Amino acid sequence: MFISKEVQPSATLKFSQKAKEKIAKGEIIYSLGLGEPDFDPPVELIESVSAAAKNGFNKYGNSMGLDSLRLHIAQKLQNENGIPCEKDDICITFGAKQALILALMAILQPGDEVINISPCYVSYVPQIKIAEPNAIIKNVDLCRGDFSLDFQMIEAAISGKTKCIILNSPNNPSGKVFTRAEFDQLISLLSDSEIYLISDEIYEYLNFGQYGMISPGSYNEVAGRVFTINGFSKSFGMTGWRIGYMAVPKKQRKSISTLVQHINTNVTSFIQKGLEGIYNIDRGYLNSYNMHLRKMAGYITDELNAAGLQVIKPQGGLFCFVNVSAKGLKSDDFAAGLLDEQNVAVTPGIAFGENWDDYVRISFAGKEKEIRSGIEGIKKFLQ
Ligand code: PLP
Repeated sequence: MFISKEVQPSATLKFSQKAKEKIAKGEIIYSLGLGEPDFDPPVELIESVSAAAKNGFNKYGNSMGLDSLRLHIAQKLQNENGIPCEKDDICITFGAKQALILALMAILQPGDEVINISPCYVSYVPQIKIAEPNAIIKNVDLCRGDFSLDFQMIEAAISGKTKCIILNSPNNPSGKVFTRAEFDQLISLLSDSEIYLISDEIYEYLNFGQYGMISPGSYNEVAGRVFTINGFSKSFGMTGWRIGYMAVPKKQRKSISTLVQHINTNVTSFIQKGLEGIYNIDRGYLNSYNMHLRKMAGYITDELNAAGLQVIKPQGGLFCFVNVSAKGLKSDDFAAGLLDEQNVAVTPGIAFGENWDDYVRISFAGKEKEIRSGIEGIKKFLQ
């Protein structure tokens, strides 16, 4: 298989490997690297999944997913996100990650252009190139002052060959939650086109700032052109369960179903069945976790701004994207030096886009004590 040069091992995993080596030598690492919440899945779900396995949900299933779970998801998207959709529009996938690549595989053809808002999740660029090696990626950077969408640049990037725009709000790695005004402007740019929107909403419930969640799939102007992608990994502490979903535009349903049939047949049957319990559990823990995230986002922003770095306070997600140019190091060297000298693991900005080599991503998903020790380490490293 031809693998394009954009398809490289994940940089986030490379640094976590180094950290693991230090841990194996008995050193304590303050991990501000990987993006997963540190709580376990609700116990009721662990029980309902194991009950589903005991009750016979162990065979092949429908490639788009279990009807009863798809119905729950369609109702959720309608009620919470204002997206007009029905059960048959929903496809259950192995994480939001698989939904992303399926959407790209379904729509991309050689020579198509993809507008990728940068900085972005590390897998978008490799996934575009795996889905269609001859796709052309046009990266459009967020504005540096506040991580808002740069409409002049987006407009300039759109051409007759633009097939889709990938958008992620709340955003990894910037912590930005795009506003209603930003979505309005984006949708008005796209309303007379045939451009698809791939909306990655995986951090939907990790939103602790002043802006509510907006799903572009709720706009009539782009009806039939939005893949709404979401999942359970981040908000339910089940990153390892590998379960996500997407609402598929009607004209792409058949392609998506065919792709799933030949790639994985269906997502693990007993996990799908057990997950229906999600719609009955008490989600109070999410409020507490969001309070923790808000507190840590504020703490990191204040401490690092005072230490001479530039930090824009995150509004959602699990990360601060910090401008470390004051240290005079490129992001890889900053992260490597910080790990070597202070045993603090962060992720270099270059992993999220070529123009972000003066940034590092700091995760505040973990425990307050570890985050505080990590930030103290960064402050010492700066001196
Ligand atoms: N989208 C974004 C923006 C992410 O940050 C991640 C994981 O870090 C994913 C998708 C993948 O989510 P999942 O674990 O559900 O595949």
